Amino acid sequence: MRIPPLYLTLLLSMLGLTARAQSPAPATQTDPRKAQFFTQDVTNFWRAFDAWQTGQPGNPFAELYYKPASPGARILLEKNGLAHPDSLLRVVQRRHADYARVRPATLRMAEAIPQCKKAFAALKKLYPSAVFPPVFFAIGGFQVGGNSVALGQLVGAEMNDPAAIAPLVTHEAIHAQQHIPYKYKILLEQCLIEGSADFLAELVSGQPAGGANYDYARGREPQLWREFERDQNLGEDDSFALWLYGGQRPAGRPADLGYYIGYQITKAYYDRASNKGKAVREILNIADARQFLTQSGYAERFK
Ligand SMILES: [Zn+2]
Repeated sequence: MRIPPLYLTLLLSMLGLTARAQSPAPATQTDPRKAQFFTQDVTNFWRAFDAWQTGQPGNPFAELYYKPASPGARILLEKNGLAHPDSLLRVVQRRHADYARVRPATLRMAEAIPQCKKAFAALKKLYPSAVFPPVFFAIGGFQVGGNSVALGQLVGAEMNDPAAIAPLVTHEAIHAQQHIPYKYKILLEQCLIEGSADFLAELVSGQPAGGANYDYARGREPQLWREFERDQNLGEDDSFALWLYGGQRPAGRPADLGYYIGYQITKAYYDRASNKGKAVREILNIADARQFLTQSGYAERFK
């Protein structure tokens, strides 16, 4: 995800979005086998889409998609700027071919659920205090791929390949366990939050962390570290664009290289720890990012 979960939650609650859901929020689950995954909204979307395509008068999305929507789908729609069914109808009118193209993939989202539950179970074994917020699959307007909010995880099914779901959901599930105070409000902290989520997701899912950022970093680690060492104390008024959350970057430089750096620091910390269970607890509860970096011994590799 691109927006720090704390900010997103604050933002949503300021907008009154988290409180407006009609049905009560599902309880956060402590048993990974009982973790909840909601896919009905995807089915409902296509029911409405077909009704629209076959010429049902009015706006079928109002009755068939918005009215029965889960609380997660409501938030996802709001985050897409589609709080009103007529806004969605306008997007569908403009982009119906794009929707039709992704339809088969959206209907296969449920295939990822067993893999997610397997990763959740592995996480529980590694970290017995783990909790599992519900996961909501819904369809928006090609704006939001995934986000964590107080209610749980939201997945924009129209923006994801089924194969990418388990890594995404596992990464977000790690965020749900993190208690990492944003103490110094610096780049290093954000990169540790993201990179350690990637690292632990890899550990519990067995799927290596990857993406354009990891591909780019291969063979460039010393150079990237030197750049990061210079930038690690960038604060809230500075641009994080070279490392996180999009923005202007030099040509050829991928987004989110900060995930890679955070991953490597976390891995160094974990690798040198003799008690791995304790290390996982510490990684999920990094009280002081600067101290964690020192204790990881990562920087010493480049001296
Ligand atoms: Zn994240």
